[in-house]
Amino acid sequence: MSSSSVPAPMHAELIAIGSELLLGEIADTNSAQIARQLRTIGLEVARISAIGDDVDAIAGLVREAAARAPIVITTGGLGPTVDDPTREAVARAFGRELEFRPELWDQITARFRKFGRTPTANNRLQAHIPAGALPVENPVGTAPAFIVEHAAGVVASLPGVPREMEYLLAHTLLPYLRRRFDLTGVLKARILRTVGLGESLIDEKIGELEKLANPRVGLAAHAGQVDVRISAKAAGEAEADALIAPVEAQVRAALGEFIFAEGQASLEEVVTNLLAERGLSLAVAEAGSDGRLNARLAVLPLAAQVYRGALPLADGHAPAEAAALVRAERGAGFGLAVRVTRAADQQTIEIALADGRTAETRTQGYGGPPAYLGQWASTAGLNLLRLRLLRGPAA
Ligand code: ATP
Ligand code: MG
Repeated sequence: MSSSSVPAPMHAELIAIGSELLLGEIADTNSAQIARQLRTIGLEVARISAIGDDVDAIAGLVREAAARAPIVITTGGLGPTVDDPTREAVARAFGRELEFRPELWDQITARFRKFGRTPTANNRLQAHIPAGALPVENPVGTAPAFIVEHAAGVVASLPGVPREMEYLLAHTLLPYLRRRFDLTGVLKARILRTVGLGESLIDEKIGELEKLANPRVGLAAHAGQVDVRISAKAAGEAEADALIAPVEAQVRAALGEFIFAEGQASLEEVVTNLLAERGLSLAVAEAGSDGRLNARLAVLPLAAQVYRGALPLADGHAPAEAAALVRAERGAGFGLAVRVTRAADQQTIEIALADGRTAETRTQGYGGPPAYLGQWASTAGLNLLRLRLLRGPAA
């Protein structure tokens, strides 16, 4: 392993800095992006935090994170204004002063000159980094980044602007971390998306695999569907694939047609692809599901080709009648109707799929949070159609 004085890294911590994050004005996409990129060099993220623009609070958090993790990466707060606290906070976390770095100042003034502008006195602040830190020049913006090497690891501070952050991450920080920590491995993940089986039923079928150490198998539940993630740590891509393949085969054998996609494809994308491949079309009717079925279909690129729109499902109509009606009225190959009825303690999802000859119907109870009911019901409907397209005769 590493011959450097720094212990071999098992993990990183990420800190997103900026009061906008805490106000809910922006989402922390930077940390998600960094976490994905770190996987490509075999690093896991153990914790992600967000914190406002308070120098002392940030200094405290950086100190704690650096005590837990050999690699800490912050984003944001490197701009030229007084509310850009990161330089000062990281310096304080390690009891260091800020130090003026002429080479950074030269780079900042050169960049301003290129755009025919003169840097302000405030920009000079950006040429100050914690004493002894490694400066990271920023050719795509004005805020330089920096890396503080300390006794137990490193703290790297990147700008908040995603484009700048991504550039410095790819061009400077990842190569630096690889060298510094002798990182040779990769973390690779394959996601198999399932629908129609609850988390506990999946557990029953693949529970043994969830005990494996490498690759690891884990579940993530979303309303009405569950992702099975198989992630391997290995020396390279090919080795990771070789670890994943036999486990993936076992998961596929156990879950069969409950698996609807690999990676990020959504159920509605899969269903509209199946319709398009078969030259078929769909119209829907729904009630009680917040219009989710229509909403999920209408926005898809393939909608113009395979989706014939929605009608409300009238109170007096049984779903099977409504499915046949909307199919005929919209001239579609399939009519799909979803009705949710809410009683005091019981909610029921009824689904009907009509193809012009027959109508298939399903009824299921729902006991989850009301906010997910529409998503859940539309998922059940789309899945009935998916299974029909996979198995049945064409409409
Ligand atoms: P600048 O020099 O542009 O001020 P900075 O390093 O100070 O850079 P911030 O001021 O913290 O960065 O953020 C600049 C912009 O970048 C924010 O307004 C926001 O749009 C985006 N941003 C900041 N942090 C994040 C984050 N964690 N995830 C996604 N976007 C972010
Ligand atoms: Mg800023």
